[in-house]
Amino acid sequence: MKMNMSEKETIAAIATGLTESGIGIIRISGKDAIEVGNRLFRSPSGKSILKDVKSHTLHYGFVIENEEENKSHWKDYVIDEVMAAVMKAPKSFTGEDTVEIQCHGGVFVMQKILMAVLSAGARLAEPGEFTKRAFLNGRIDLTRAEAVMDVIHSQNEYALEASVGQLKGNLYEKIQKLRSDLIYEIAFIESALDDPEHISLDGYEEKLSDKLDSLLKDIEKLLSTANSGKLIKEGIKTVIVGKPNAGKSSLLNLLVGEERAIVTDIAGTTRDVLCESVRLHNMNLNVVDTAGIRDTEDTVEKIGVERAKKYALEADLILYVVDTSVPLDESDKEIIPILNHKKYIVLLNKNDLSNVVSEQDVLALFQEHNPGMKEINSVKISAKSNDGLEDLETKVKQMFFAGEIKANHEIMITNLRHQEALHEAYDSLLLVKKSIEENMPEDFYSIDLMSAYAALGRIIGEEVDDDLVKEIFSKFCMGK
Ligand code: GDP
Repeated sequence: MKMNMSEKETIAAIATGLTESGIGIIRISGKDAIEVGNRLFRSPSGKSILKDVKSHTLHYGFVIENEEENKSHWKDYVIDEVMAAVMKAPKSFTGEDTVEIQCHGGVFVMQKILMAVLSAGARLAEPGEFTKRAFLNGRIDLTRAEAVMDVIHSQNEYALEASVGQLKGNLYEKIQKLRSDLIYEIAFIESALDDPEHISLDGYEEKLSDKLDSLLKDIEKLLSTANSGKLIKEGIKTVIVGKPNAGKSSLLNLLVGEERAIVTDIAGTTRDVLCESVRLHNMNLNVVDTAGIRDTEDTVEKIGVERAKKYALEADLILYVVDTSVPLDESDKEIIPILNHKKYIVLLNKNDLSNVVSEQDVLALFQEHNPGMKEINSVKISAKSNDGLEDLETKVKQMFFAGEIKANHEIMITNLRHQEALHEAYDSLLLVKKSIEENMPEDFYSIDLMSAYAALGRIIGEEVDDDLVKEIFSKFCMGK
């Protein structure tokens, strides 16, 4: 992909967060980066040294504003005391000359230095533009560029492992391997068709068919990780249901670790839907807390009930909180059908009080709908005395990740774009199989093999158009 004019300009941005912190970094990249840095940077003895220093060196000094005539000494123009790192092309993140100014991490001082950099000749970078340049300059492929953003957004250990694996090039290498297998077959067919006297396609169908089976299996394996991949990256969409006073808000508070939801003794007080992202061990649950489910004449409460049902339908996981200190009633009966065909965990709450409801009693309720049912997924907890959370973690892990998550060792598909392209490649390969079965001429094979090749190419960024590249990088944060 060729770079256009604006992609050749020298760009700059604040690379660290716009909050007060220990240090802040202003990053400059492009062919004039060193010149721009040189104009603003002074060594302690007042010299402009950056244009003469070696690549990959760090220098102590000062950043100055553009000099005006009414001040006499360069020291009058100092904005901040800084360290400046110089990285020359092509060995930098972007593949271009880069200067990074490390200043004190105040919002005002960072902005002031950025303004000075811009007035010295750089233009403000768009979100993701540094990483986009790394991609356009061939420093990284698209999967690694996307992994950069995923690392930044990772909220738990597994998500981070999966992104770092991708950053290391695991996915890139796998996709390249699949593509090289495909291009070998395409080239073979094309050469045989061009030169039938020397290259024979006799018996080739069988060989190709075997190859296709193995490729299809590889792609299936990748696709099979997409579900866990998504849950790891985005969190498990979780809904807490249960009749009023069962302890839903208390459970949410316990998970969040703060007094966020309002807990009261009056039935039906949790009326608004709250959503919290909480960490349960190394997983993230995006918890929607809903109003208590029960038959009611109260309109506000009724909406809550409907909402609970709606959210439960969309959820990956339903936590059904049962108050074991009072008998099950009609409200509980209403909840059971919502759990049907969903992943649920029955939380037998108020374990610290004397129980009138057992696991068997809840199972009996389920059996009213599903007589063959032998057991339920349940965990005893006490939201009040913080008991049973570990069992809950173990259960969730068993249900969603077969007990263990090994993001680093196997390649995880965490990106919807990759998943779609893999599906497309898969379908194209199935078409090749069909053509073989129907004894179609060989050039039919190569058309679909080529489509699969192109779909896989899109994952790593070899066959993407400008718009897609723009869209992908626009989701990045400033300065990255
Ligand atoms: P919600 O209506 O389902 O959200 O229920 P709340 O979380 O507001 O809890 C209702 C009442 O039950 C509050 O007084 C809580 O303190 C109490 N409660 C919740 N969980 C427990 C528990 O595990 N043990 C005991 N003893 N009380 C609990």
